[in-house]
Amino acid sequence: MRIDVLTLFPEYLAPLELSLIGKARREGIVDLHVHQLRDFTHDRHRTVDDTPLGGGAGMVMKPEPWAEAFAAVQAAGRAELGEQARPLVVFPNPAGAPFAQATAQEWSGRDWIVFACGRYEGIDERVYEHLADGGVEVALASLGDYVLNGGEVAVLAITEAIVRLVPGVVGNAESLVEESHSEGLLEYPLYTRPASWTDPDGTLREAPEILLSGDHGRIAAWRREQSLARTAQRRPDLLEASERRGDAGAVTKP
Ligand code: SAM
Repeated sequence: MRIDVLTLFPEYLAPLELSLIGKARREGIVDLHVHQLRDFTHDRHRTVDDTPLGGGAGMVMKPEPWAEAFAAVQAAGRAELGEQARPLVVFPNPAGAPFAQATAQEWSGRDWIVFACGRYEGIDERVYEHLADGGVEVALASLGDYVLNGGEVAVLAITEAIVRLVPGVVGNAESLVEESHSEGLLEYPLYTRPASWTDPDGTLREAPEILLSGDHGRIAAWRREQSLARTAQRRPDLLEASERRGDAGAVTKP
């Protein structure tokens, strides 16, 4: 998978050299390129923003550097992936569609994603129109209902969520199947050794006995029940959504 990131702060993406994503890069599973948007300006001050037309607070990102950057990145990607290659261009945006596990799953199957990190008040609307009219697939993705200073933190989160689903990145692929959100449910409670633990306040805390039973059928049923109960308590909206969709999570409520 090839990933390009366009940003004013390339250093923000440094954590993608660490841990499992860093390993996936070193192993060639993910080919990540980070580009400085200012490299696509031509004035002395390397200007990427200007005041909003119509007035108002803050600054708006100018269209010209973006158009030039997208052209250059697409040319570089096609040189590597072949002339037929087409990227999905993702703009992190608080006004975009909520980024969810299902989106991560879908995007993990893509060959090429270009992330465009906004800053200031955002990007001139004509950039999106220009890409869409040029036949480029564009998605606006929101990390949540709050406003960040820029798209970089969203790209870190989205990239990690996608790349860990690419085959070969997480050692034990089974661990991805039962995770929160993979089936529209939250994960069941987890325990490890010691099965009996006295906490620092002197309280003895036992792991549920069923987990020591060795009966995998009963353990699976208990976990499923716990997942449903936890989802009903913490995120009833998830159960309602899966019921509406009629998918795997839409089993009887506890
Ligand atoms: N004026 C914009 C608005 O009201 O929708 C907010 C701009 S924000 C300060 C600057 C940039 O941060 C955005 O262009 C986007 O790239 C990124 N951003 C902010 N919040 C985000 C979120 N919840 N999800 C994804 N990206 C976000």
